[in-house]
Amino acid sequence: MTNLTKDFFISLSNNKLLNTNAKKWGFRLGADKFVAGTNMDSVVETVKELNSRGISGTLDNLGEFVSEKSEARIAKEEIIRTIEKINEENLDCHISLKLTQLGLDIDQEFCMSNFKEILETAATSNIFINVDMEKYVHYLKALDVLKNIRASYPNIGTVIQSYLYRAESDMEQLKDVRIRLVKGAYKESSQVAYCTKEEIDRNFIKLAKKRLLGYTFTSIATHDHKIIKELKSFVQKNNISKELFEFQMLYGFRTEMYDELIREGYNLCTYIPFGDDWFGYFMRRLAERPQNLNLIVKDVFYGKDNKLKRQPILLGTLAVTSVLVWRKKRNKKGEAG
Ligand SMILES: Cc1cc2nc3c(=O)[nH]c(=O)nc-3n(C[C@H](O)[C@H](O)[C@H](O)COP(=O)(O)OP(=O)(O)OC[C@H]3O[C@@H](n4cnc5c(N)ncnc54)[C@H](O)[C@@H]3O)c2cc1C
Repeated sequence: MTNLTKDFFISLSNNKLLNTNAKKWGFRLGADKFVAGTNMDSVVETVKELNSRGISGTLDNLGEFVSEKSEARIAKEEIIRTIEKINEENLDCHISLKLTQLGLDIDQEFCMSNFKEILETAATSNIFINVDMEKYVHYLKALDVLKNIRASYPNIGTVIQSYLYRAESDMEQLKDVRIRLVKGAYKESSQVAYCTKEEIDRNFIKLAKKRLLGYTFTSIATHDHKIIKELKSFVQKNNISKELFEFQMLYGFRTEMYDELIREGYNLCTYIPFGDDWFGYFMRRLAERPQNLNLIVKDVFYGKDNKLKRQPILLGTLAVTSVLVWRKKRNKKGEAG
């Protein structure tokens, strides 16, 4: 994908107005292919179906742009309810969350106290909590929170983004913590991150191999079949136990690979986002992969019966507005240098 298209979708994911409005629309633009439902009840069946095929899950109560303490408290309560539901339904599932949801941008102490409540609840039912990594501006703060908290809570892990120059040294610091290794989904400057696909992929493979030779559990989170193939043969060659790692994929992606991985005896976990705050997450997925745009076109212009819709005007207007907002922002940035 050209950088321009990627920038466009990343800028949409950062647009608070569109995110807020999208909550009112319900799932649109084909988002239901990648977001499992609007509430926990609607995703329980999805998790059960995956579990029945030997696939575990990690649930993400979607939430972006939290700027009020009341919003962070609501997010905390929802996550706690999700943990309780996992327990009640006996699901093979853990939690993924973002510290900005819990108030990282408002006050670090406040965020930490919300987070501790979640960790306490999860610890009583032995449920693992993963801290997703976000933009670099939040990265250092998140590491700081983890440093303060991790000795008291063994049920906690986090993410290393291979596009960051500092990924290897941070991974070293976290060598006794469960890690999810990803390439990185945000737009970062060349001052802190590799910017070419080759460099990011090379670092991902290097870090994955290093972790696999260690002893702490690692989630290899990628849809890249070439990397998966290379790591499978690395594991075989080095006689690495399959118990020490899992592959992770996002809900709705590369589903054709699931059963084969399970048949081959690998652990597989699906990252399952849900909730009405789907827009930012969905836009980041579009930024990653141009083919996903087909889903939008299909959803905007065609009904479930595959017939052309009569009035795709609303979403057509949305698309045009989005382009205009984005162009205006870009021009402003250009003026400011
Ligand atoms: C489980 C999970 C959790 C994540 N958590 C985070 C997080 O906390 N923080 C963060 O910054 N990022 C996170 N990400 C996103 C991640 O950083 C990448 O942006 C995203 O995974 C895209 O990189 P990739 O390695 O999957 O494949 P890409 O580099 O996008 O693609 C590589 C190649 O794989 C093939 N491919 C990829 N996708 C498909 C597909 N759908 N169908 C067919 N072929 C395909 C294509 O040949 C493509 O050229 C997460 C990703 C996953 C899978």
